[in-house]
Amino acid sequence: MTETEVPEDHPRYASLVTRHRIEAGVETGITSKQGLIAQGRGEAFDYLLGERTLPSADRAARAAAATLLAADRPVVSVNGNVAALAPAETVNLADAVDADLEVNLFNHTDERVRRIADHLREHGADEVKGLAGDGEIPGLEHARGVVDADGIEAADVVVVPLEDGDRAAALDAMGKTEIVIDLNPGSRSPQTADVPIIDNLIRAVPNIAAHARDLAGASPEELRAVVDAFDADEALGAAEAAIRGGSFATPDNS
Ligand code: ATP
Repeated sequence: MTETEVPEDHPRYASLVTRHRIEAGVETGITSKQGLIAQGRGEAFDYLLGERTLPSADRAARAAAATLLAADRPVVSVNGNVAALAPAETVNLADAVDADLEVNLFNHTDERVRRIADHLREHGADEVKGLAGDGEIPGLEHARGVVDADGIEAADVVVVPLEDGDRAAALDAMGKTEIVIDLNPGSRSPQTADVPIIDNLIRAVPNIAAHARDLAGASPEELRAVVDAFDADEALGAAEAAIRGGSFATPDNS
C-alpha cells in the first residue's frame, strides 16, 4: 500500500501515512535506518498523547514563533526524518520566520546531505546549507559536530527537531537558544531546550509557521512578552501528565 492508497477514513490514517513517508525516505536515501527506530519511538509517544497537539504544545509553538521572529540569525536544522515527513512545511516555516535551512545529520554522509538538500529544493527551498561543513559544534566527536560556519555555527536561535541529546547539550553550551520538537518529554534534548515543543513534528512545524504569520506584525516588546510568558518546565510537565494520565484508548483520526 502506498501513501496515496491509504484510505482517508482508515482509523489509523495519519499514522500509516507517516510510516509510508519514512519508508519512502529510507528507500530514496533521505532517511537513515536509525530514522526508522526514532520513528517507532515517536509513534509510541504520540499514541500515548492521543495524537493531538496539547494546549501546552500550542503555547510552546507560539513561543517558538516569537523567538524565531525576534532572532538575528535563526536556522532550522533538517535531518532525514524531518525531510521525509514534512519537507514543504519545513521550507514554509523557514520562509515565515526568515530563517536559513541547514541539513544536519547525526549519521552524516555528503551523499545524504545532497539528497536532502535536493529534496528540500524540490519542495520550494532556495538556498540549503549543510554542504560546506566548514564549522563545528565544539565538544563533540568530529563527524557529529560538523556544521556550516555561516549556518548553525553563527546562529543565535536554532530549531532542532529530533535532536540527539548530546548535540542538544553541546549547542546549548555554545549559547544557542534552542527550540526542540520531540514527542518524548523525558528525552534529554527537550529538557535542554529553551522552548521544548512536545508534539509530532508533522503537526508542530506548520503550527509554528501559522503562529509566526499571526505574529508577523508584532513589535519587539510584544514578541518578548510572548517569549517571557512561556514556561518550559510547565510545558514538559503538562506533556508528561497527559501521557501518564491518558485514557489509553486507540486514538482515532476523526
Ligand atoms: P536523547 O538523546 O535526547 O535522550 P533519545 O535517545 O530519546 O534522545 P532517539 O533514540 O534518537 O532519542 O529517538 C528519537 C526521538 O525522536 C524520540 O524521543 C522520539 O520521541 C522523537 N520523535 C520521533 N519521531 C518524531 C516525530 N515525528 N515528531 C516528534 N518527535 C519524534
